[in-house]
Amino acid sequence: MRFLEESARLVDNVNADTAIIGAGIGGLVLGGLLGKAGISYSIYEQAPKLEALGAGINFHANGINVFEYLSGDRISSAGVRVKRRLYRRWDNGDIVKTFDMADRAIRYGAASRAFHRGELHAALLKCVAPERLNLNRRLCSLYAGSDGVELKFEEGPSVRAKLLVGADGLHSVVRRHIEGFPQPRFSGRVAYRAIVPAEALAGLPEIADYMRWWDRHGSTDRYVLLYAMDEDRHRYCMVAVHSEAWLGREISPHVVDRDTLTERFSDIDPKLLAILGQLENIIKWPLMVAYPGNPPWYDRAVTLLGDAGHPMTPHIGQGGGMAVEDAAILARCLTEAKPGQYAVALRRYEHTRYERLTRVQSASDNNEIEGGNDWLLGYNPLTVPLSAN
Ligand SMILES: Cc1cc2nc3c(=O)[nH]c(=O)nc-3n(C[C@H](O)[C@H](O)[C@H](O)COP(=O)(O)OP(=O)(O)OC[C@H]3O[C@@H](n4cnc5c(N)ncnc54)[C@H](O)[C@@H]3O)c2cc1C
Repeated sequence: MRFLEESARLVDNVNADTAIIGAGIGGLVLGGLLGKAGISYSIYEQAPKLEALGAGINFHANGINVFEYLSGDRISSAGVRVKRRLYRRWDNGDIVKTFDMADRAIRYGAASRAFHRGELHAALLKCVAPERLNLNRRLCSLYAGSDGVELKFEEGPSVRAKLLVGADGLHSVVRRHIEGFPQPRFSGRVAYRAIVPAEALAGLPEIADYMRWWDRHGSTDRYVLLYAMDEDRHRYCMVAVHSEAWLGREISPHVVDRDTLTERFSDIDPKLLAILGQLENIIKWPLMVAYPGNPPWYDRAVTLLGDAGHPMTPHIGQGGGMAVEDAAILARCLTEAKPGQYAVALRRYEHTRYERLTRVQSASDNNEIEGGNDWLLGYNPLTVPLSAN
């Protein structure tokens, strides 16, 4: 409290009721939804400019329904509607299972889609008012008092807000503020990721929008995915996951050469191995996990969403989906709250999310969606009941 009073003269603006840290998928979706509901918000992002970074990302009806509500056809004109999935044998690529994805679109109200991350980001950016987005603002510390939150950035003036949402990803600064909140740990698994031009797939006997070579042996479960990222099927995303110790280096993504990849996956279908042997710009990612903490997550007027609160493995393609679900539920709780009743809204948000997140996190860890897809993909965060309190 004293800190707030003392520093008041350094604060040049009370920018908005809700300050969102991070313009990733979760932060942009939350900003867009709050804007649509007429709730004032500001987003603070550390990057000086938002560039088309990264490879691909898959979303299913539980995320796509929100994107469509938020952005209409901006989303349907980005990425690709996934028509067919194939599961293939690890050692020779024979087709083991085929999924017609049209059924899912009918059952869950939206088709699964895959995107180039940069293009998805560009579409989501159009959903937030440009004046609400503050770039080159890296949060370095915060102080939550009884009457709001004070934010300090490496560059630029401090800001005061009534509510703070940490959508600042795996290395969240906001999470550090919530005492006892679980910290991410290395899962013992890594992912290699690269973009594959369509011409490189010419040697495959059959190509589908999404293909998974899968060696399913419990804890040594490993897989390689190839999936299209655009409607013209010009570019595919390759993701190869297996168990591997993280030696030496700091635990962060870095570029590796293609021999590293082909040595690790040398016993895979030779047709796929030949494709892996041509790739450029292969990035190795440590897969980090943290289960959502037991409620309460919020501390005064501070809460978390997405990877800041519960990073998960990519095995069932739902980390980003959970960030979108979080954003939609939080926006609804804030919209329904009486003026100034942030604690009530945050409590409802975490109570609505806790069980769902724990179940999805566990399915992701096991790479197994027990009981079929309905509970996972049939969850519409725009309409599911909110916790009563
Ligand atoms: C190999 C791999 C494949 C994956 N595939 C899928 C998939 O197919 N489908 C899926 O749903 N999920 C997938 N995921 C998970 C998905 O990428 C994440 O869950 C999702 O990006 C999380 O979004 P977010 O908005 O919470 O965080 P991020 O996307 O990490 O965004 C956080 C933002 O906060 C900013 N930031 C960080 N610190 C600060 C600070 N101090 N101040 C200001 N700004 C800050 C960052 O610059 C960034 O813009 C995959 C993950 C991996 C590793």
